[in-house]
Amino acid sequence: MTKPSNPEVGAGCEPVVDRAAVEARLQTRRAELAGLTAAHEDDRRPVELDQARQGRLSRMEAMQEQAMAIEVERRREVELARVDTALERLAKEVYGLCVTCGEPIEPRRLAFDPSTPLCLGCARRSA
Ligand SMILES: [Zn+2]
Repeated sequence: MTKPSNPEVGAGCEPVVDRAAVEARLQTRRAELAGLTAAHEDDRRPVELDQARQGRLSRMEAMQEQAMAIEVERRREVELARVDTALERLAKEVYGLCVTCGEPIEPRRLAFDPSTPLCLGCARRSA
């Protein structure tokens, strides 16, 4: 069974989203992520064979710390991409609709994470 496509859909079916508030939250998060990326740049540098530094911290520990910093940064990049996508979706007026099934995303879910692209059901299925 296919749903009839209605070109006038939207007038009464748009998700109720406070776009200005959502955009402000997303922009704030974006700035936070960019700030963290800049603040931790040193942590991701290759481990130096610096004797003074190695006196306090073994090379192994330093490499583990660097690996962790790189992983944290990778997660930041993933979140930044999500935030950017959410901002694009906001601009295209499809924000708040699940990218997989097209149904409105639960408002509480969006309130918790405004960058989420999936409804609860789809998020559970893709987890
Ligand atoms: Zn969905």
